[in-house]
Amino acid sequence: MPQPIRIAVVGGGITGLAAAFRAFELAPGASIRLFEASSRLGGSLRTVHEGMLLIEQGADNFITTAPWGLDLCRRLGWDRDLLTTDETRRQVYVVHRGRLVKLPDGFVLMSPTRLGPILTTPLLSLTGKLRLLAERFIPARKSPDDESLGSFVRRRFGRQVLERLVQPLVGGIYTADPERLSLKATMPRYLEMEQKYGSLIRATLQGGGRHLPPQSGARYGMFVAPRGGMSSLVERLAEKLPAESIRLNAAIDRIERSADGPWQLRIAPSPRGEHSPFERQEFDSVILAVPAFRAARLLETSDAELAKSLDAIPYASTSVVTLVYHRQDIAHPLDGFGFVVPAIEKRQILAASFASNKYPGRAPEDQVLIRVFIGGACQPELAELPDERLRAIATAELADLLEIRGEPLHVGIARWPRAMPQYHLGHTELVARIESLAARQTGLALSGNAYHGVGVPHCIHSGEQAAEQVLTTARISNPPA
Ligand SMILES: Cc1cc2nc3c(=O)[nH]c(=O)nc-3n(C[C@H](O)[C@H](O)[C@H](O)COP(=O)(O)OP(=O)(O)OC[C@H]3O[C@@H](n4cnc5c(N)ncnc54)[C@H](O)[C@@H]3O)c2cc1C
Repeated sequence: MPQPIRIAVVGGGITGLAAAFRAFELAPGASIRLFEASSRLGGSLRTVHEGMLLIEQGADNFITTAPWGLDLCRRLGWDRDLLTTDETRRQVYVVHRGRLVKLPDGFVLMSPTRLGPILTTPLLSLTGKLRLLAERFIPARKSPDDESLGSFVRRRFGRQVLERLVQPLVGGIYTADPERLSLKATMPRYLEMEQKYGSLIRATLQGGGRHLPPQSGARYGMFVAPRGGMSSLVERLAEKLPAESIRLNAAIDRIERSADGPWQLRIAPSPRGEHSPFERQEFDSVILAVPAFRAARLLETSDAELAKSLDAIPYASTSVVTLVYHRQDIAHPLDGFGFVVPAIEKRQILAASFASNKYPGRAPEDQVLIRVFIGGACQPELAELPDERLRAIATAELADLLEIRGEPLHVGIARWPRAMPQYHLGHTELVARIESLAARQTGLALSGNAYHGVGVPHCIHSGEQAAEQVLTTARISNPPA
């Protein structure tokens, strides 16, 4: 009898779990082992239940226009457990000169899909609006070189649209500096629209923007969330895998392969002394589902060049402060999903999400659950402040912007150090180089949010592709007799 293929998955976030599940779906007889360094699965997905509160400490939902999240839920037989956002409250606010102003209807990520609302918004001055309208006459850029998102928006729509709308909306998704973000790596469809139609407004008016989501905002439309929170998706995935396939508190610290032999995984001694000193296990294939800088550490002894390229992907950190208030203590109508804060406003928070407005069952009826984001690439020092400072910043900013009288009933803080990869200028080329170097290592697949998208569906897709890749390679190397 041939030995079943041995697959190791390193990292138990959504990428690693999706990879392990896909491998199990395609090759149920395979021996699959998932190693997670911490004591819990989920990585950036972490739901906490406190009394009647359902608190998302990390990601709180996922987009459905990238199909892989929904598709996975369907395969898990679980799509009926998904909630959609409450459409009646879809409004997003932008902080403007110290107060909340509604984002104009039809403004999607980087460009307007309707001109009426943008012409009446107080977010832009008359000069800003005229400059926006002039977009139709700005010729398309000829150079094939990568362009920053900031430069693209300034060139096409002018400085005000960048500073007042796009920077807080798009910058917020990546917690990034738009002057460094690669347009090609983050928003390629806008580049295509410019190239094809010569103007984004013309593209939208001629129907070229029909594949854009039809709502305003960035994080807030066409999204779904599991009824029981993001961690319930993690639990559902873990349940579907054979019990012995998941190992927690198992940090891999090196992977090596001699000639055509199997991969050797070295497991670091457990801080709790469960195994020591180093333990080694052999596998035919390894899927790395960890941040790029961690993959670099695992590979540096076997492929220094690949490790160096992986280290070139920068990361940003954020902290999420969750606050719960009595509804009656807040003067603002809270008729929306939250607000974003332009950097030009010089405040200490990036955005706030009215979590209990987005999905039902997050807080009791008479209470409001708000998540405040602090830090990111432009204010990295703030993410690292001690808990009491983060709490003070979040409560002071919300009290001012939402006119809150009372003290919060609950405050929670989650830290996400180096959790958000930054797709800087040249990212596409860097990833192509990483992938061509990794292709020299038979049986190795890289996956996760560092390469082709940071959203949960993209991570799922990347994990699933990695599983398909290692199984295809294994079948080519060991064809059935
Ligand atoms: C605050 C925040 C909010 C977000 N909001 C959203 C949102 O609303 N919607 C959305 O689509 N996306 C959102 N994202 C992005 C998305 O959640 C992440 O990109 C995604 O969850 C990353 O998954 P991953 O499995 O690739 O990596 P991670 O979640 O980082 O998981 C990697 C895992 O690998 C483990 N690990 C690391 N090193 C080792 C090792 N040596 N050995 C073994 N295990 C190791 C880690 O402990 C971790 O569990 C958000 C991200 C953050 C941080």
